[in-house]
Amino acid sequence: MMRMLPVERQQQILTWIEEEGTLRVSEISSRLGVSEMTVYRDLKPLLENNKITKTSNGISFPTREETTWNDRCVYCLKPATNRKSVQLIKTDHTIEQTCCPHCGLLRYQDIREDVAQIMCRDFLTDVTISGKTATYLIEADLNLNCCQPQVISFDSRRQASQFQKGFGGTLHTFQEAIVFISKEMQGPDCCRH
Ligand SMILES: [Zn+2]
Ligand SMILES: [Zn+2]
Repeated sequence: MMRMLPVERQQQILTWIEEEGTLRVSEISSRLGVSEMTVYRDLKPLLENNKITKTSNGISFPTREETTWNDRCVYCLKPATNRKSVQLIKTDHTIEQTCCPHCGLLRYQDIREDVAQIMCRDFLTDVTISGKTATYLIEADLNLNCCQPQVISFDSRRQASQFQKGFGGTLHTFQEAIVFISKEMQGPDCCRH
């Protein structure tokens, strides 16, 4: 491999971790053709900034528990630690958190160029799902005490529509939901938080 600058090696290491999950220092060292000492030096600032973490198997991205979450919604500053919260994983590997899909969608619209992935939870199973393929139920008749208009995310469109039969509201894809919420928020009633 060509001689790389430390910042290029760091970028390469992050890319590998993203693709492979966990990497050993010895593996990184042999792939990059540099000493383990050098790898440790490259990793140091990444470890200090919490971009990566050391595990028994090597180097990986921090899990949710290990990350020092800024536990406020980046959009409305409400606490964002519950199961409605949404994560925006940015291309620079930082993560932003919002209190609920409402703020997640609005935040995504503001910084979409910088977002690599948006993750939310399925309302019924609590499983993490991709925000881009989720189905959104807006203004269902069920008060979750977060932002209005209220947005709930579902993994399955079919289950979302079954839920809608009981609780009302309207179903939207990711893009439709963004358009819907931004329109609602432009009115004089903006920020009915
Ligand atoms: Zn919020
Ligand atoms: Zn909210």
